[in-house]
Amino acid sequence: MAATGPSPGSTPLISAREALALLRDGNGRFVADVRSHDSLPSRARRIELAAGQEPFAAVLGCSDSRVPVEIVFDQGLGDLFVIRVAGNIVAPSQVGSVEFAAEQFGTRLVVVLGHSDCGAVVATLEQLKRPRENQSRNLRSIVDMVRPSVEELLAGGLKGDANELVRQAVRANIRASANHLRHGSEVIEQLIRNDGLVVVGAEYSLKTGVVDFFDGVPED
Ligand SMILES: [Zn+2]
Repeated sequence: MAATGPSPGSTPLISAREALALLRDGNGRFVADVRSHDSLPSRARRIELAAGQEPFAAVLGCSDSRVPVEIVFDQGLGDLFVIRVAGNIVAPSQVGSVEFAAEQFGTRLVVVLGHSDCGAVVATLEQLKRPRENQSRNLRSIVDMVRPSVEELLAGGLKGDANELVRQAVRANIRASANHLRHGSEVIEQLIRNDGLVVVGAEYSLKTGVVDFFDGVPED
């Protein structure tokens, strides 16, 4: 990461609302299988970007190989500031990454991008139903981050319906991460209050390719 681009506190080039429209359009192209040529990682674009970056959105996605962020939004080099971790969980390094993008580049849209049938969420459900003693400490740190949003659902009446439980747990986990980011630091809270930073939650469907922005989307 090179700290180039707009100076800290500078006016964003693209508002959260405009950035959201660009992502929606890009996902529409991806779903329709009409990817744009401009987004290809061209040599010319690479050379142009060596001088600095101005990503218009930051995306916290899952590491799942089926959800490559630039591809599902049909974006190219320099467009998105992407953070990926299994289960799109929020730990201090993710909060710091979002702060970095917002402060250094004026990025005003942050998307938490979860997806259907997320393995990290399923693993958490399994662990809660049948706790394993020998789980690695590092893996457990991911499960422990997903656990609170899933525990509530398990306590509810969904125990018998496995598919519905996973579906709701995925959404609950996305909401929890988005909320965590919104209140993750004083810096982010201030950017939200004073500078138009918006954190939204979205779910990608592995089957249809559609990204559904369902949490915290600003009203028209
Ligand atoms: Zn996942």
